[in-house]
Amino acid sequence: ALPLAVLLLAASGEAADGGDEAPLPPPAPLDFLEHELDFKAERPPSALPPWVGSKAQCDRMAAECVAWAVCHGLMMRTAAEQTDGADEPTTYVHAPFSLGPCALPAECLREAYEIAPLFGKLVDEVGKDVPWLSATLLSTGESDDFTKRLLKLCARVQSEGKTQKARLAILRSDYMLHTPVKDEPPQMLQVELNTIASSFAGLSQRVADMHLHLAQRWPSLQQHAWKEGGKPAKLSLLQALPPNPAADGIAEGLARGHALYGNPDAAILFVVQPHERNHVDQEHVVQALWRTYGVRVLFRTLSQIGLEAKLVGKQRKLTLPAGEVSVVYFRAGYTPNDYVSNRQWDARALLERSYAIKCPSIEYHLVGCKKVQQQLAQPGELERFLDPSESERLRRVFAGLWSLSGPSDLAACASDEEREAALAMARACDTPADFVMKPQREGGGNNLFGAQMKHALQTFSREQRSGYILMQRIFPEKQLSVMVRAGKLTVGPAISEIGVYSSLLVSKNDRVLLNKANGHLVRTKQEGVDEGGVAAGFAVLSSPLLT
Ligand code: ADP
Ligand code: MG
Ligand code: MG
Repeated sequence: ALPLAVLLLAASGEAADGGDEAPLPPPAPLDFLEHELDFKAERPPSALPPWVGSKAQCDRMAAECVAWAVCHGLMMRTAAEQTDGADEPTTYVHAPFSLGPCALPAECLREAYEIAPLFGKLVDEVGKDVPWLSATLLSTGESDDFTKRLLKLCARVQSEGKTQKARLAILRSDYMLHTPVKDEPPQMLQVELNTIASSFAGLSQRVADMHLHLAQRWPSLQQHAWKEGGKPAKLSLLQALPPNPAADGIAEGLARGHALYGNPDAAILFVVQPHERNHVDQEHVVQALWRTYGVRVLFRTLSQIGLEAKLVGKQRKLTLPAGEVSVVYFRAGYTPNDYVSNRQWDARALLERSYAIKCPSIEYHLVGCKKVQQQLAQPGELERFLDPSESERLRRVFAGLWSLSGPSDLAACASDEEREAALAMARACDTPADFVMKPQREGGGNNLFGAQMKHALQTFSREQRSGYILMQRIFPEKQLSVMVRAGKLTVGPAISEIGVYSSLLVSKNDRVLLNKANGHLVRTKQEGVDEGGVAAGFAVLSSPLLT
């Protein structure tokens, strides 16, 4: 049962009050936007997208959306008021969003949903093959201390014997639609597969609802097919805005893990960062857990866990003063910044060694390393873990990926793989715009692009390079977008990244209890911005308009 098959049939046909019925005036370049926009010298000022009609309408739509965001919890903590304790006062601002959705071929989203369980299977198979995982990450660990510590922890947990009753993951596979030639069908390529702390499900679910609200309030949007160029739409606008139960899906995955654990009185532990701006996104999952399943949630930072948590009994039950923990859901712990001292590492080790079900376990966490993604793209590797037909299907969404741990000098290469990587390094220095260099980091803002990448390739030692991988740069088609941040509008050509969430639950004796896609994320950023990430300040949240 594909969520996409459940297309909305909610169109009432009635013009809601406040909507406009007069024909739209032609779009005109508007100088009011210029001071909001960071125009590059060569780029002409952008007009508004045709579906907006006029500046006055655009402002009204944005104001309505901001009000909607406040009413429905499409919110984030303000950066200025990050607080340490839950008791301190805090202020909120609406999450950055795009005023309209982003056009996306329905078959691309359907494919991303369909292959999500294959990625789930892959994560489980790779996670079980710790020797392969350790060998793959060996050179990375030698140059990257964070990966080394994660590997060490994994080895310790392995040698002690796993205790958790089942393996649980909330995954998010991210893609961009590579469209090197305008108007040609796009090729969906995977940016990365997140196995830990995949965020924005709660807020994404709301953005889809907000765009639907806007479409119902402004009937002109429905006539206009809400996109540039006005190509004939296959679906009515309301059919093209699918519901997005992403946060409900995460809650379901966590609740299934909790039920399997077997103590209804236990709580789910959210491991969070001390200054979490994205607290409301998490809260949506918390409330879905309570509303739908009656499950309690505790929030703790790694430092607090270090002080409070104990392993009780031979089974090593994870216990806090507030009670026993069934599932540990990591929304922190994926970056070295979360481990300021050994206390946080000790806390992580305690969690991993406990009987609680980890989402994800240290093994699943390691599967999300960019180095693993790169190694899986090597010939024959996927086939270790999947059937040939499954491998073939996943390989279709793999971009070009190369190891950086080999020699850069062709003459020194000992295998075809090394020669291909050395050739790619040379090409990346010739045409840096076509490549990205990525370290084993999460959360956005860490990749090297352009001249910075070239400099790194030319000056890093082989050992330093081993901490990174090299990737083909994906070029999605631009769409004119209105982005709203803290009530301020920015208009300009933008590109988007889509992500599909899935939940995976596998019993200790390898029975797959849950493995399905259950929601999506669209992030849009201004063209010319290299990095991504909403929390990192590069992108805004959007939703798909299926075409
Ligand atoms: P992280 O785990 O930090 O999110 P990503 O691999 O997602 O790392 O990279 C961060 C951002 O960099 C992405 O959201 C995307 O905007 C951009 N990016 C990453 N890889 C590519 C690529 N191959 N082509 C184009 N942009 C990329
Ligand atoms: Mg990531
Ligand atoms: Mg990412």
